Amino acid sequence: MKISVIGTGYVGTVSAACFADLGHEVICVDIDKSKIDRINAGIPPIYEEGLSELLKKYAGKRLHATSDYDFAIKNSEVSFLCVGTPPDPRGNIDLGIVKAAGAGIGRSLGTKKGYHVIVVKSTVVPGTTETVVLPAIEEHSGKHIGEFGIAMNPEFLREGKAVHDFMNPDKIVVGSMDKKSADLVASLYQGLKCDVIRTNLRTAEMIKYANNAFLATKISFANEIGNICKELGIDTYEVMKAIGRDFRIGPHFLNSGAGFGGSCFPKDVKALIGKARETGYEPELLNSVLEVNEKQPHRMVSLLKDKLGSIKGKKIAVLGLAFKNDTDDIRESRSIPVIKELLDNGANVSAYDPMANGNMKKIFNIKYYGSAIDALRGADACLVMTEWDEFRSLDKEFDVMEKKLVIDGRHMLTPGKDVEYVGLCW
Ligand code: NAD
Repeated sequence: MKISVIGTGYVGTVSAACFADLGHEVICVDIDKSKIDRINAGIPPIYEEGLSELLKKYAGKRLHATSDYDFAIKNSEVSFLCVGTPPDPRGNIDLGIVKAAGAGIGRSLGTKKGYHVIVVKSTVVPGTTETVVLPAIEEHSGKHIGEFGIAMNPEFLREGKAVHDFMNPDKIVVGSMDKKSADLVASLYQGLKCDVIRTNLRTAEMIKYANNAFLATKISFANEIGNICKELGIDTYEVMKAIGRDFRIGPHFLNSGAGFGGSCFPKDVKALIGKARETGYEPELLNSVLEVNEKQPHRMVSLLKDKLGSIKGKKIAVLGLAFKNDTDDIRESRSIPVIKELLDNGANVSAYDPMANGNMKKIFNIKYYGSAIDALRGADACLVMTEWDEFRSLDKEFDVMEKKLVIDGRHMLTPGKDVEYVGLCW
C-alpha cells in the first residue's frame, strides 16, 4: 500500500522505515528540511537501533522524504499523523502542531481524487481526533467525513528499542468511526504476529494515556518504596524482585532510581491530568506520581551534600545525560534537574554520555568529555544518571577521581572496595 507519514521524528521515522520493511511504499513529510535530506540520504535523523540499516536499505527505493504535502497526499492512500504533541506552559497538551498538520493534509486532500484515510498516531487526549483533527481536515479540504476516513492508531514503542517494538508489538490498537477505515489500517500491519484491538477513536486515545500513566505509576511506586527502604536499611531490589513474582504485579518497571524522563511519560501524565481537570475531576494519584518523580533527582544531590557538605567549587562528574540508555534523546532527562541543581550550588560539572553530549550542549555550558574516565579525572564525586551498559563495568576508571565517591541513580554499578558507593534507594 502507499503510505505517507507526516512528521519524521522518533515515531514518524521509525514507522516509515518499518512500514517500508513490511513492503509498503512510504513518503515522509516534514517541515524540517535537514531531516528530509538525511532520510533521503539514508541517514536517520535520530539514533535508534536498527534504523540506520532500514533507511540504507529503502531510502530512494520504497522510502522517500519531502516537504511537499500535495505530492505526499496525492501519491498515498493513507496518511499517518506523527507530529509532536508537546505540553503548553501549564503542562496541558499543546495541539497547535497537530492542527497545523491536519490543515496541511486537508489542503492537499481537497484536490485529491479517490478515498484517503488519515490516521492519528501522535499521542492526543481523548476527543482530539474527532473534535480537533477531523474539523481541521474538513475545513481545509472542503470534504466531509465519509468522503475520506479517519482513524486513531496510538504508538507504544520504546525509544532505544523502537524498531524492535514496532515490528514485535504486544498490541495494535485501531480506533475508528467506520469499519472501512479500520480494516485499511489493520491491513497495513499484516505480517506482524499480533492481535488488532478495534475500538472507537476516544477509547484508542485513552488506551495510550492509561498505558503510559500506569507504567509511570509503577515507577513512582517503586521509587517511593525504595525511598522508604533506604531509610530502613532494606534492599528495595530484593523487595521488588519478590513482589514482581506475583502474576498480578509482574516483574517490569519496578526498578527504583532517579525517576522517569523522556518525551512521553512526564508529558502524557501531565496531559491526562489536564484533561481530567477539564472535566472537574482532580486526579490525586497521577498528581502524586509526578510529585514523587520530580523529587527523585533532587535526592541524588541531597545524598551528595550529605557526603561532601558544601559542593561549591567541587568537581562533580555526571555520567549519563540521555533520559535512558540506547538513545540520544535528553527530553525531560533526570540529569537536567540534577545538573541545574549542581550548577546552582556552585559545583563544576564534567559530563559524559555515549550519545547525548551534543544534545545536552544546547542546554548547559559545562565540560563534556568523550569517555567516562576523562569526565571522572580529578572529580570529587560521580553521579550515575543513565543506565548505559558501558557504565556497568566501570571500576578502575574511578581511580582517576580526587575522591572516590559514586552515587548511583540506576542501581547498576559494582565498584571495588576502595570506592565509596552510595545507592539512591538501596
Ligand atoms: P518529534 O518531535 O521527535 O517529531 C515530530 C516531527 O514533526 C518533527 O520532525 C517536526 O519537524 C515535525 N513537524 C512539526 N510540524 C510539522 C508539520 N506541520 N508538518 C510536518 N511535520 C511537522 O516527536 P516524536 O517523539 O516522534 O513524537 C510524535 C508523537 O508520537 C507525539 O505525540 C508523541 O507523544 C508520540 N509518541 C512518541 C513516542 C516516543 O517514544 N518518542 C512513543 C509513542 C508515541
